Amino acid sequence: MEEIKKILAVMKEAVAHPGQAVKNYKQMTGKGAVGCFPIYCPEEIVHAAGMLPVGMWGGQTQISQALTIVPSFCCSIMQSNIELALKGVYKDLDAVIISSPCDTLKSIPQDWGYAIPDIKVIQIVYPQMRKIESGVEYLKTEFLRVKQAIEGITGEPITDAALKKSIEVYNRHRRSLREFCTVARNYPLTITPVVRHLVIKSGYFMEKSQHTLLVDELSSELKKLPPREWQGKRVVLTGITAEPDALLKIFDENRLTVVADDLAQESRQFRTDVPDGDEEPLLRLARQWSLIEGCSLAYDPQKKRVEMLIELVKTAGADGLIFCMMKFCDPEEFDYPIIAEQFEAAGIPLLYLEIDQQQQSLERERTRIQSFAEMLNR
Ligand code: SF4
Repeated sequence: MEEIKKILAVMKEAVAHPGQAVKNYKQMTGKGAVGCFPIYCPEEIVHAAGMLPVGMWGGQTQISQALTIVPSFCCSIMQSNIELALKGVYKDLDAVIISSPCDTLKSIPQDWGYAIPDIKVIQIVYPQMRKIESGVEYLKTEFLRVKQAIEGITGEPITDAALKKSIEVYNRHRRSLREFCTVARNYPLTITPVVRHLVIKSGYFMEKSQHTLLVDELSSELKKLPPREWQGKRVVLTGITAEPDALLKIFDENRLTVVADDLAQESRQFRTDVPDGDEEPLLRLARQWSLIEGCSLAYDPQKKRVEMLIELVKTAGADGLIFCMMKFCDPEEFDYPIIAEQFEAAGIPLLYLEIDQQQQSLERERTRIQSFAEMLNR
């Protein structure tokens, strides 16, 4: 248990002080850092340049300046990112990479360029016709632009060998987090919803092979613990993010453990590997986008997400699904009615929660979670 506490303390430090994590990295390596906006970002290219990719998934902050730049119906992640940037929190970043899979994100690169001109923006367009070869080829050219932009910052070429190595590091990291999520299911008293989220989130502020070592060690320490019976109920989370932590604490208070997730900030980032093979690395990276399934941001006329969620609830042994709906997130709002209808038809309990990272009071959510837990316990 002491080892587990030590590992979690390191992760907590990274999440609590991401700015310091960036400073430490720069000091240790002499290399820079690049901010990676949600939802998808070819972090491997940044990593191959020796720079630190830093996840930018918003956070809790008082919004005072961002609304002069973005409209109030912009999701809270983007409001926070702009606000934090205006407050100077990201001043150590050399650039930010922003893709445009939703209407909100389409305007953010221009907003950023206007509001924070000192930090370069590298914009990517992910094609929605992602399953056809020309879509994959197109994305490769977008990634080539990213690579050239990063080379322009460091002044050094990013070799194919370095890219292949970084793809390996990232696939290894994905496997490690998948393994952790499976192991964590058996230790709900140690890996509470807040801790589970911490373990995954800390990877956004650490070099990935370092984070993999910690996660592997954590999984192996967990396996040494005697299994303890869980008296509560099990849930799966879906949506963009289930932040803030105060919300996850309410799950715990109501004896709900998270046994799996389909959150964009969590499992959607690591459930699809970059494919192996002899193709050039940028093409392999682009091909991953064609393999992603069940994400509201990746065009899928068949909406496989619904079946995937039903299957996930069953395989994880969950009692229900919690839909964490990011306020003002169109892609997720389009998926919700289809999911709600199919879950009702399948007889699987579903709770809808609205997520706003800046929300001051969570009493409405507390009541809804309490009622859901009571319903599951009936
Ligand atoms: S996908 Fe949703 S949460 Fe993400 S940036 Fe767009 S609106 Fe915000």
